[in-house]
Amino acid sequence: MGKNLFFDYCSIPIFVIILVSIYIRNSSKGRSNQYFIALNYLSLGAVIFDVMLETLSARVPLSGTQTELLTLASYGYFLLRNFTLALYMLFLYSVTRTEYRLRRLSKRIVFFAPYGLVCLCLLLNPAFGWIFRISPDRGYERGDLILVLYGVSAFYALMGVGHLIRYRGMLDKEKWLAYLGLYLMNFFAVGFQFFMPRYLVEIFGTAMAFLLITLLVFRPEEVMDSNVGLLSWRAYQADLRKILATRQPVQIVAATFTNATVVRNYLGETRFYSYISRMAAEIADLNHERGNPSEIYYESPGTLYTVLSGNSVHEKVEALLPELRDKIDRHTSDISHTGARLEASICCIRVPEDVSSYEEILHLGHNFRALIPSDQIFTKASSLIDSRDYEIYSKMEYILERAITKRAFEMYYQPIYSVQDGKFRSAEALIRLKDRDFGFISPAVFIPAAEQLGLILPIGDFVLESVFRFISQHNLPLLGLEYIELNLSVAQCMQTDLPEKIFDLEKKYRISPDQVNLEITETSFENNAGLMTSNLNVLADNGYRFALDDYGTGYSNIQRVSRLPLSIVKIDKSLVDDMNTPDGFSIVRNTVRMMKDIRKEIVVEGVEDKKTLSELADMGCDFIQGYYFSKPIPAEEFIEFLKKHNL
Ligand code: C2E
Ligand code: CA
Ligand code: CA
Repeated sequence: MGKNLFFDYCSIPIFVIILVSIYIRNSSKGRSNQYFIALNYLSLGAVIFDVMLETLSARVPLSGTQTELLTLASYGYFLLRNFTLALYMLFLYSVTRTEYRLRRLSKRIVFFAPYGLVCLCLLLNPAFGWIFRISPDRGYERGDLILVLYGVSAFYALMGVGHLIRYRGMLDKEKWLAYLGLYLMNFFAVGFQFFMPRYLVEIFGTAMAFLLITLLVFRPEEVMDSNVGLLSWRAYQADLRKILATRQPVQIVAATFTNATVVRNYLGETRFYSYISRMAAEIADLNHERGNPSEIYYESPGTLYTVLSGNSVHEKVEALLPELRDKIDRHTSDISHTGARLEASICCIRVPEDVSSYEEILHLGHNFRALIPSDQIFTKASSLIDSRDYEIYSKMEYILERAITKRAFEMYYQPIYSVQDGKFRSAEALIRLKDRDFGFISPAVFIPAAEQLGLILPIGDFVLESVFRFISQHNLPLLGLEYIELNLSVAQCMQTDLPEKIFDLEKKYRISPDQVNLEITETSFENNAGLMTSNLNVLADNGYRFALDDYGTGYSNIQRVSRLPLSIVKIDKSLVDDMNTPDGFSIVRNTVRMMKDIRKEIVVEGVEDKKTLSELADMGCDFIQGYYFSKPIPAEEFIEFLKKHNL
């Protein structure tokens, strides 16, 4: 009796649709996704062979070509079909992040042995006809050992179900059920076929199970970052939990691109994301060449996490960096030619050796950058975690919250010298934090952390209030001081009610806007240039003046400098530090000249010696700030300083 191929035909479009949807959703990266894709191709192949096999075997007697085709289809079918459950098992290892269980050769041999047995039977089949026999007049007939194949399938199925039961705590319930689906479907199909042998439903069952996985598990928005086509930050978090739950050792290489936002603005999103994904491709390629199992995740705006497992836990990553750099340079030359280049900072974290808590690993990935000197590219977590700074960073949220409620902040003032007058005409207000346990913590450390943790606004409010109060409490003009400069953080500049806040303080302390100068940085424009510009204009229309801080770091937009209501440009200390080289000297001289040409006053920061001071004065700088005159000092001391030097 001929077989009914209806279900086989139905499963073909299902596999095709699954594959197409994976590619369209750009989720073909990552090992488990690749296993899943392979499973679908494998099953698609198997069902095509099955259709050939059933169609041809219904036509006896067979011609010579038909016999050959039938033989081919039979081998193809058995080879592919019997590999499905083994491959599915690899897929399960991958989704539970337990591939390490096959690390040892002996384990791998045991794992593949049953399939090896299938291959052996098929290899010997032409001689013995154990699995099937084909003859032109009788067509296709089953052999006696076909039961071996069922046995092998049962072996892999039991192994898979056992694995799912063992690791069920690690997967969401719906996902867990979806993974179990294949076994349930297979079980059901075998039963169905036992009673209704005419209907071939087995592969259809597989198709339905895969469809279920596609629908319930493959939520690309959860796993993939669609911008770069890499595994997402969420996937990193989820996988990290699995890694820790199974206690498998891994090495995480976190690479943060310190200038990612700037480069993204410069290249535009499309080119930036393709740059990132090509870089990830080079990393993947290098790992592949070295036989290192790895997964790469992306966190916006510019961090790549490479998780190395298996033997590569001991890979000496720093030794690979030059090669990687070469590869990247070679394959991203079109972008390098534009002048853009991502600057990376890399940290290797061994889990569980260095750190074994989930929060700490995430935290290290975010903060290692700030714990190493800015010119250092590579670091190991093991060399960071014992430092005082690391402890501060890990407790930063707590420290800041405590400081905010306990008002542990204080404003210091650093005098700014006017070259023309030979007196101190202004000062910069700089915040200080003295923690009960850790003592003095630098604002260069806690201000960026507060920005990240969303705690900067109360701190910014404290700064505004303290400085306004300070101005109202002292008769500064009498001491020869014209105004105080204060720093506005990026988040403060992004507040729609910033002008009102400032106007309220102005009334409360009855001070005049020209006694305040607000320092902003160009990074404030990266997020929302429109809001930033409108805040600036409202305040400027009401008499407030602005200084552009840190000029010469990052990508300065000179057009913006000329258009905005900025009265002062502050030249960054890093430019001053370079003044002892001919180029560095020339850069400062010409920056000063250009700024003077567009009628900006100039403050040079970080002047520590007399020679630099006189060079800058000769160039025509208006104001000088630096340790040469004074470090930032507490309010009372600052008043004493003015009395001594200005009166
Ligand atoms: P900044 O605004 O560029 O402040 C200038 C920094 O240079 C200050 O560091 C100052 O102490 C330091 N400095 C001044 N002259 C010299 C010198 O001659 N040599 C050296 N080596 N350093 C010098 P500080 O006070 O540690 O502040 C670091 C950064 O923290 C500031 O950089 C600013 O970005 C931020 N910050 C400080 N206070 C505040 C604040 O009240 N609000 C906000 N939003 N940020 C602040
Ligand atoms: Ca400043
Ligand atoms: Ca500065």
